[in-house]
Amino acid sequence: MGFARSVLLKASRSQWLARQLRERRFFQKAARRFMPGEALDDALDAAGQFAKAGMGSVLTELGEQVTSRAEAAQVRDHYLGVLDKIQRRKLPAHVSIKLTHLGLEGSREGCVQDVLKLAARADQARSFLWIDMEESRYVDATLDVYRRAKAEWPNVGVCLQAYLRRTPADLESLLSLSPAIRLVKGAYNEPADVAFPKKRDVDAAYFQLAQRLLGEAGRQRVKPVFGTHDLSMIERIRQNAVAQKVAPSSCEFHMLYGIRAAEQRALASHGAEVRVLISYGSAWFAWYMRRLAERPANVWFVLRNVV
Ligand SMILES: Cc1cc2nc3c(=O)[nH]c(=O)nc-3n(C[C@H](O)[C@H](O)[C@H](O)COP(=O)(O)OP(=O)(O)OC[C@H]3O[C@@H](n4cnc5c(N)ncnc54)[C@H](O)[C@@H]3O)c2cc1C
Repeated sequence: MGFARSVLLKASRSQWLARQLRERRFFQKAARRFMPGEALDDALDAAGQFAKAGMGSVLTELGEQVTSRAEAAQVRDHYLGVLDKIQRRKLPAHVSIKLTHLGLEGSREGCVQDVLKLAARADQARSFLWIDMEESRYVDATLDVYRRAKAEWPNVGVCLQAYLRRTPADLESLLSLSPAIRLVKGAYNEPADVAFPKKRDVDAAYFQLAQRLLGEAGRQRVKPVFGTHDLSMIERIRQNAVAQKVAPSSCEFHMLYGIRAAEQRALASHGAEVRVLISYGSAWFAWYMRRLAERPANVWFVLRNVV
C-alpha cells in the first residue's frame, strides 16, 4: 500500500483531526465534490436527476461505529423514512447501510432485527437493501447478519472486498443462498496478512472473483454487481459476460457520486445497468478521507480550495 494512502487511511480514524477539519469551509467545499449535499432531500433530488438519465441510484446516510441501541434505532427509523420517500417519489433507488451504523458492535441481535425490518420495508417499496462491508474485523459478523436477512428476504445484497485474502472462500460459502453480491476492491487500512498490499494483486483478485460471479450469474445463482470506477476492468468484465453468455441486464455497475460522472452516463447509454451510490449526512469526515486515500491526487483538490 502506498505511503500517502496509508497515512490518509490512518487519519480517517482520528477524532481530533475530524474536529479540526470538519468545520473548515475549504474542507466542506472539497467534500461536496463527492456528495450533492448533507440533506436527504439533496440525495433524493440527485437520484431523480439520475433516473431521468436512465440510471438508478443507491442512497446511504454517512455514519459508522454507533454503539448505543437508541442511536442505532434512530438510524433504522431514518432509513425506514428513506424507503417511504423512495416509494412516494417512485424513484429507482436502493439503500445501502453500514452495520456498525446500526449498532452491530453494541448488539448483534438488535442489529439483525433492524436489518430484517429494513429488508421488509425495502421489499414493500420495491427497493433493495445493500449491506456495505467495513473493516476486516467485521466480516464474519456482517456475513452472519447477511445470511439471516437473506434467509427471510430475497431483496438483500452484501458487499465483498477483493483485497481480502479470505474473499474467494467467503464467496463460495454464500453461493447456496443465491446471493446478490456487490464486488469492490476495498477501502480500509488492512495488514498484509489480511489483504493484498499491492494494487496489481488486488486488481487480479477482483477480476478472478468477477469471472466466478459471472459464471454463477449465467446459471442464475447470483446477482452480480461490480462497484468500481476502473474502466479497463469494466471493459474486461463486460467482455467476459459476453463470453459466459450472461445477459447485460443480469449484472450492474455501481459507481460513487462525483467520480467519473461522464463515464457513468456513457456506460448507461451503451446499454449497461448503472447505479450511482449517493452519500449524504453530516458524518462525512472518515468517508471523505477514504475517498482521498483511493486517489491521493485528490489532496491537491483540497489544497486548491485552501488557496
Ligand atoms: C458503489 C460502490 C460501493 C462501495 N462500497 C464499499 C464497501 O462497502 N466497502 C469498501 O471497503 N469499499 C467500498 N467501495 C470503495 C471501493 O472499495 C474502492 O475503494 C473504490 O471503489 C476505488 O476503487 P476502484 O474500484 O474504483 O478502482 P481504482 O483502481 O482504485 O480506481 C480506478 C480509477 O477510478 C478513479 N477513482 C477511483 N477512486 C477515486 C476517487 N476517490 N476519486 C477520484 N477518482 C477515483 C481513478 O481515475 C482511478 O484511476 C465502494 C465503491 C463503490 C463504487
